[in-house]
Amino acid sequence: MSILPYANQNVWELVAYKPGKPIEETARELGMDAEDIVKLASNENSLGPSPKALAAMQGVLAGVHIYPDGASYALRSRLAADYGVAFEQTAVGNGSSELIELLGHAFLRPGTEVVAAEYSFAMYSIVARLFGATYVAVPNKADWTHDLQAMLRVITPQTRLVFITNPTNPVGTMVGREEIEAFMAAVPEHVTVVFDEAYMEFAAEPVDTACYVRQGRSVAVLRTFSKAYGLAGVRVGYAITTAEIAALMNKARSPFNVNLPAQVGALAALDDTEHLQRSVEMVNRGRAQYYAAFESMGLAYVPCHTNFILVRVGDGAGVYAEALARGVITRPMGGYGLPEYIRITIGNEAENTRCIAVLRELLG
Ligand SMILES: *Cc1c(COP(=O)(O)O)cnc(C)c1O
Repeated sequence: MSILPYANQNVWELVAYKPGKPIEETARELGMDAEDIVKLASNENSLGPSPKALAAMQGVLAGVHIYPDGASYALRSRLAADYGVAFEQTAVGNGSSELIELLGHAFLRPGTEVVAAEYSFAMYSIVARLFGATYVAVPNKADWTHDLQAMLRVITPQTRLVFITNPTNPVGTMVGREEIEAFMAAVPEHVTVVFDEAYMEFAAEPVDTACYVRQGRSVAVLRTFSKAYGLAGVRVGYAITTAEIAALMNKARSPFNVNLPAQVGALAALDDTEHLQRSVEMVNRGRAQYYAAFESMGLAYVPCHTNFILVRVGDGAGVYAEALARGVITRPMGGYGLPEYIRITIGNEAENTRCIAVLRELLG
């Protein structure tokens, strides 16, 4: 007998998140050494973690038989001070992906609606479906940015969450201060606006959205240590939001959701502004490297504010597979409705050079 008729159909019908292909798996399948594989698929930081974060994490390993501080007091206090909000206005998660899920717990059930851009992070639709909510995807503008005015028009009394990914994934574009102001001036009060800012550290002109939190608006600003801070493997992200929304998120989370190395690593990473700066500079140089290569190859790409680039290669699945066979892991975009594109993480110079050489070989 199958137990599935008794399962939660929202879960059974989910199409699970498909992460970038892991290095170990690729090495196994190709019979190659892991060191010879270049992973440019998940927007990780090729510079590695901050040495200060690494030392802080190593320093606590002997104490991991004790549960971590369930309230993440030190990390959340630091974030509250940095953003000029109260401790009660913060939440931390096992990656910001968990924070997105906690917002789902807090606001979504059948009959409610989630609004996001057509080309945006896959977790939003997964979380909407997990809670039986309706997911409303709004087409991006011709320049690939979020169409915030169109997003306003689809808001109904059932809308609970609107996701604005800034800069956005998988396209890398950004909406500026004026557009956000106009959106915030018009968005109804029953809607929680989520600014997912996983890549804001890479933006040359970052937009401050925590100001809306300080004004008491129902806004959640999500940030992560997985990208510019180079701590994807320990899983930690945070939300700056209202005390009400943070309380909802904190009630819904599991008791020790952020582990001890993650808490101390994140705290130390915040202090290592030099490492952050070097990471951003590496990405700025790499971006120029890819732009020049794509232009010389006649490939269309989306100018980006992120540590990844969306580039049009024709047969995205085919180019992904051929690059993979040569030990370069990129991200095919068919699942995002962009079958002619691949998304490439901007790595260090050697990784970028190798990736560009493979693309030249494949695309002439
Ligand atoms: C990578 C990413 C995240 C979060 O990743 P975590 O590792 O779970 O913190 C969130 N939003 C977007 C748009 C991302 O690209």
